[in-house]
Amino acid sequence: MSMTREQILELAEFHDEKACALSFYFQPQTPRNKAHKEDAILIKDLVREAQRGLENKGKKECARADLERIVQLSSELRSNGTQGTAIFACAARNFWREYDLPPQLPGTQIFVDRHFHLKPLAHLLSAMPHLGVALVDRHRARLFELRLGEFTEWEDLFRSLPRRGRSDGYAGYEAGHAQRRVEDEALHHFKNVAEALKTALDKGMFEKWILGCQDVHRSQLEPHLHPYVSQALLGHFHADLARVSKEQMRTKSEGIVKDWQSRRCRELVAQALEQARSNGRGVTGLRRVLRSLELGEVQSLMIGENFLAHAVECSGCGHLDAHLVSFCPVCGKATHEVVDVGEAILPWVIRRDIEMFYVKDDPEFDKVGNIAALLRYRSEQNSNVQSISSGSTNPPVRSRSAYPGRLRRFASR
Ligand SMILES: [Zn+2]
Repeated sequence: MSMTREQILELAEFHDEKACALSFYFQPQTPRNKAHKEDAILIKDLVREAQRGLENKGKKECARADLERIVQLSSELRSNGTQGTAIFACAARNFWREYDLPPQLPGTQIFVDRHFHLKPLAHLLSAMPHLGVALVDRHRARLFELRLGEFTEWEDLFRSLPRRGRSDGYAGYEAGHAQRRVEDEALHHFKNVAEALKTALDKGMFEKWILGCQDVHRSQLEPHLHPYVSQALLGHFHADLARVSKEQMRTKSEGIVKDWQSRRCRELVAQALEQARSNGRGVTGLRRVLRSLELGEVQSLMIGENFLAHAVECSGCGHLDAHLVSFCPVCGKATHEVVDVGEAILPWVIRRDIEMFYVKDDPEFDKVGNIAALLRYRSEQNSNVQSISSGSTNPPVRSRSAYPGRLRRFASR
């Protein structure tokens, strides 16, 4: 089951004061047939290790029931060895969620903490546009949604397309003009497809799309695309609508998205760095980025793939501070240390629908602290830092219903 934005939000906002929130990620090992047993052993080992860690902290019962349940599940996970799984649980609060994920997780892992561990999920979903894939030929068209490696077809969208052009347009092309008529029908067909794509985009059914068709049809369709439908087109692949398999569609589409993502990431990093240098709409370095996040200014966040930095989090208002202070500078309550601030900011990123990219080895980026943001606007330099967690200080959430619904990375229908 693909995750919806609401489900991801629910995880991001979950908080357990006693720090018994358990996150479990299962990444099947390859080769599959040999690894089944190893997977189960690995899970048992990880569970034992997690249990021991909790006992050392004097929290023996903390996640025990959930850990036991995961061991029981391990045989089921094995038999489903082509898929990744994530489980988020907190027995004390009667919380248990299980999700299938593409098998592209960093590994099988268990975390027990105050919040759920969302980084592996963020890696899967970061900067992932809400994607449509259209298959088109001379007579037909099919439109799919691609989320977390799964295709869903929008049946109704193209069913409403007339199979032939409007009949009143053909009065003059009767017998003897068969060829002309066929061309005319094709023209109508491609116009209709272009119109249907525009409607789908307007309705927020996708925010970016990919076209699969034969080259000859591409040149017939593209002139009819509305300019913003063209703009939302990430790329195309050669496909025969009648023959292409889902696996081929997936591979082609994922390649196109990957290229687009790395292009966009490079552009955004360059832009943020340049803007930061001129004191414009960009900031670099953890302290400034945290501040901009709290001020609600951030549009796009770029973070080094291996970025790891400590910070403190206020137990009262949720303020995050790059300085390891014992008391919150905003509300005065005690703080606790956060081992990975890159994890701690994820709830904010998700809640605010911020576009996020993980940046791979970039020396320029490394120099400025491995974290940077491009801002929507820059608020007054001397305004007070407010806590991002208290709902009342958040700017109103932008409506995402209409085009261009930048549902962004954690988008869903
Ligand atoms: Zn505080």
